[in-house]
Amino acid sequence: MPVVLALLYVFGHGLVVALLPGPAGLGSFVFLTGAPLLAAAACLWRARADRAALGWRAIALALLLWAGGMGINMLDALSADRPDITPGASLLLYVLYGVPLVFILARSRRERWAISVIDGIMAALLGVLFFVHTQSFADHVGIDDQALANMQRMFDIQNLCIAVFAIVRWASCDVPERRSVFRALALYALAYLLVAYYINHFTSEQSFGAYNDLLIDVPFLLLALLALRRSPATGFVLQPRLARLVQAGGPIILPLLLLVVGTLVVDHARPLALAGFVLATLGFSLRSALLQIDLLERQAGLDQLARQDGLTGVANRRQFDAELQAEWNRARRSGSELALLLVDIDHFKAFNDAHGHPAGDRCLQAVAALLQHSAGRAGDSVARYGGEEFAVIVPGTALDGVQALAERLRRAVEALQLPEGRVSISVGIAFLHPPATADAGQLLADADAALYAAKRAGRNRVVMQGEAPAGADRR
Ligand code: GH3
Ligand code: MG
Ligand code: MG
Repeated sequence: MPVVLALLYVFGHGLVVALLPGPAGLGSFVFLTGAPLLAAAACLWRARADRAALGWRAIALALLLWAGGMGINMLDALSADRPDITPGASLLLYVLYGVPLVFILARSRRERWAISVIDGIMAALLGVLFFVHTQSFADHVGIDDQALANMQRMFDIQNLCIAVFAIVRWASCDVPERRSVFRALALYALAYLLVAYYINHFTSEQSFGAYNDLLIDVPFLLLALLALRRSPATGFVLQPRLARLVQAGGPIILPLLLLVVGTLVVDHARPLALAGFVLATLGFSLRSALLQIDLLERQAGLDQLARQDGLTGVANRRQFDAELQAEWNRARRSGSELALLLVDIDHFKAFNDAHGHPAGDRCLQAVAALLQHSAGRAGDSVARYGGEEFAVIVPGTALDGVQALAERLRRAVEALQLPEGRVSISVGIAFLHPPATADAGQLLADADAALYAAKRAGRNRVVMQGEAPAGADRR
């Protein structure tokens, strides 16, 4: 349906050109301004419920600027005596049209707002520099033969940059929503590049109001159709390494363009060119520093995640292994005490079976929090050792202190009131002083044997390594 409407739009435009001929071409102007407005409306509609809303809004802004440029062109063509000369305000809007597009093409994912502000300032200055340069040619149109060609070349460069960047971003993007934005932008920018090249280089002698105008509708209507289509973007994705290279290289786009355009205007707008150089250097350094902070924070978060058990929040098995080894080494060096408690929830399978897995998970969380609260306070480290087993490493504490801690933990869990009822734990203690055992693994084996003894002895109790509890049937 939207495709039919788009075809009707072009057909209507053709009819107006045929039926209402005239040098100013008012009817044609209405269609030329309407096409980008329609595309902008489609992009804004798409942005309402899209995760890549910023991208669609940036494109919409660009289209509104372009429509503004065309609108001024229209008013100018109706009133001025030289309708073939593009007015300065139109030129400014056509140049500024590229700013939101370059901004969104240079932007990487999940950026903090400060980085976006820096990019925004760089993109805005880029627009100003580009305008100053283009205007310097526009001022000489009619005086200097080369001026018009130079001006057209500036627009060719702008359009080519946008199309190439959009294709690269499209090819390297792996997030479906953002990929859709870049795909739409790439296809549109490619169509726009070709149409603008044809119009500027082959029909520049003609003023608006001819059949060529129909071509200008095409990129905008194409963009509107792509924005209205909600199907996920398909196509090839570059190798992950190459995709990362493009992502990492994205931030260089804006400073690089600033340096290039700054160099172009250095002769006729020295202060602005200088501002471009300074901003390119400062902006890039500042955004690199901010990016580095982000990466370090993210790395710290990942490190934390890699050490933590996802369900209970206490240390995971990997962290436990590393800590046990470190404490064991320390105890050997200093000759101080080292104890290990292995804690296992009694009859937990029955608890799961009776109350369901989610209730079992909540029970694990509650027991872990309790152990962390009771043992973690004194600097002892609590870890989830396995399914419903926890381990507590207790360094530098005398045997009676360790036993008291284990008993305190057992009683605390016994007193814990869960919505589903109560649970109990069995605790096996391994203790070294001085640490003569061959390795840390032996400590673990001793604690495990003691835990097994506690289970055999009837559960809900604390058993010390080597100790045979009453009624126990030791391995
Ligand atoms: P015992 O008193 O001898 O320790 O008996 P038990 O039932 O506690 O021991 P068993 O090893 O037979 O069962 C352990 C149960 O722990 C089985 C498994 O479903 C449950 N479990 C292990 N990890 C999780 C988990 O992450 N969430 C939940 N809800 N249950 C778990
Ligand atoms: Mg158990
Ligand atoms: Mg178990």
